[in-house]
Amino acid sequence: MFNLRPGDRWRCPYCGTNTFVTKESISESTIQVNTRSKRGHVGLRVESVACANSDCRELSINVQFGDVALQRSTTGTYLQMQLDRFERALLPEARLVTLPTDVPEEIAITYREAVLVAEVSGRASAAMARRCLQGIVRDFFNIPNNKRGNLGAELSYVRSSIDPELWEAIQAVRGVGDIGAHMDQNVDHIIDITHDEAKLLIGLIETLFKEWYEARGTRRTATAALRELLGDKRDQQKQAKKNATQDSPEVSDSEDSLTTE
Ligand SMILES: [Zn+2]
Repeated sequence: MFNLRPGDRWRCPYCGTNTFVTKESISESTIQVNTRSKRGHVGLRVESVACANSDCRELSINVQFGDVALQRSTTGTYLQMQLDRFERALLPEARLVTLPTDVPEEIAITYREAVLVAEVSGRASAAMARRCLQGIVRDFFNIPNNKRGNLGAELSYVRSSIDPELWEAIQAVRGVGDIGAHMDQNVDHIIDITHDEAKLLIGLIETLFKEWYEARGTRRTATAALRELLGDKRDQQKQAKKNATQDSPEVSDSEDSLTTE
């Protein structure tokens, strides 16, 4: 649910830009649908936001379905959602974060599938999130082939390199993902995973993209810039020495004498 009022802050799910919404950039309306079913007086509440970033101008739509009723106010009557039974993000279809460029294609596909399936099946999404976690751990820590096997063993192999808080969150994704992946083992006791719970797991996967891949990318860029800076300074130093040698031949003599000693 957006529930935005003019002046509220809004982060666009497409471009990630933070803006303040205006009266013109948001809309909200409730409509009644067929009232003859056993569901009675039900309807849809539709909210939309247009991104204010001129390069994006994308549309986000959220829909709620539930019980509606007519309300009276000083200006007349209006339809209001009384109890929302469920809601869906209609646009964008899925809230996918933009992945760092060095995330392998296979991991990116698994992440996308985990997000897309979350609305329909929390268990399937949790299983995909767990598979994504395993792919990330193997790739990021470059786990050697002879250490690859089950996720638990792979994680133990790199435990000392993982932040303790992240470690705990990773264990949760692994545990809940196991329930999603091995549901056939306990057919009599199906443990459900809601889409909100699945989204928590996806959130951790997105944290790993940011804290591992993105941070490494930033570090590499900074290191490359520093390396270049050092190279430039050394070149300048060499040039300065060369110039100094040309200007004062005595220095050159003393240097020669030093090197011949
Ligand atoms: Zn935008």
